[in-house]
Amino acid sequence: MNHISTSSINPGYHKNGSDIFTARGIFFVFVIYILASCTNVPNPVGNRNIEVVINDIPFNTDVYKRIPYTLRAWEWEKEGLKLQQIEILDYNTNATLQTIEKESFPVIHKDPLTPNGLIELDKLSHYYISIQLPVELNKTPPSKIFHKFKFRDTVKNKELTVEGGIFMPRLTEAPLAISSPVKGDNWLFINQSTNEYHFFTMFFTDRKLWRGERFAFDNIKLNDEMDDMLDGDPKVNESYFNYKDTLYAVANGTVLKVVDGRPENRGDARDIKFANLDEYAGNYLVLDIGNSRYVYYAHCVPNKFMVTQGKTVKEGDPIALLGNSGNSTGPHLHFQITDGPHLFFSNGLPFVIKKYTKIGKSETGPSSPVVYTNAMMEEQTVISF
Ligand SMILES: [Zn+2]
Repeated sequence: MNHISTSSINPGYHKNGSDIFTARGIFFVFVIYILASCTNVPNPVGNRNIEVVINDIPFNTDVYKRIPYTLRAWEWEKEGLKLQQIEILDYNTNATLQTIEKESFPVIHKDPLTPNGLIELDKLSHYYISIQLPVELNKTPPSKIFHKFKFRDTVKNKELTVEGGIFMPRLTEAPLAISSPVKGDNWLFINQSTNEYHFFTMFFTDRKLWRGERFAFDNIKLNDEMDDMLDGDPKVNESYFNYKDTLYAVANGTVLKVVDGRPENRGDARDIKFANLDEYAGNYLVLDIGNSRYVYYAHCVPNKFMVTQGKTVKEGDPIALLGNSGNSTGPHLHFQITDGPHLFFSNGLPFVIKKYTKIGKSETGPSSPVVYTNAMMEEQTVISF
């Protein structure tokens, strides 16, 4: 599943668009029970081990506190076990926090990884599963969590439950707070930290696990009815409401890198071919904001950068124009913050926007404005700055 995915968008927000996703209803449907659980199940046996290998700082959205983490488990399929359900529980109360049925399982990285032709991938000896546990904002988040993996044993023809993945969410730590990289009305930040595919993208190479895109988002701009992202020919960049919007520095920093001069796709045509991994990002800028944190602005308009390499910028300075270069199915900004300067071979860090106004939802249209501070937003929340 090691697809290179920086970062197409889902252009389903066009009335006449036909492909990929429709605007409404692309969510995983998680069944959330807040009931006490009282079944007795066996503890892990042998090497049936489930552990948390990535424990990221939780962050708020407009609806939830989301607790992001990654589990590593043994290769159960080699024992003839079929995973049926993942139950996430409060370690202290045994209450079920979330039940994920198999129809809604997140990506499970396992061997053999799908070759991508650009990176030599490791042979894996474990399964990797990334989860964002949603906790309603008015509920107290769990201080300790564990899991029940429920299997169908196809050899012994019976059910089996294995417990594991005990961890303590980093509830006392705050995610990085930034200002918005765009301004204006009717923005939709998609494919983002709250669940979508960036979060599940991992590269296993040189015995390391990389996840630069983990908390990335792409963004589009909607009309006032919040049901369309363009007006006109979808093969023309100028048809899109976000095209050539100004991009801003989200924090004080130094311009570490500018890659410029690469062509743009024509609207949703995906007509750019790639010679190497770097070209997936198109024209891009990397801002070093200190403390080993690097901000990526990808798919920019060529020859329009307002800053050069080495220049110091202040939060809010204009730096580039939103474009459609690189691996892109329509004009958008691909935005991520990582712990290293490489687009893919680094680790994505969670972040929140210092202030935005929620003005509606793409599925239901405009609503009364509500201001949020130090938060991200759910996938269909329409925002203004
Ligand atoms: Zn993206």
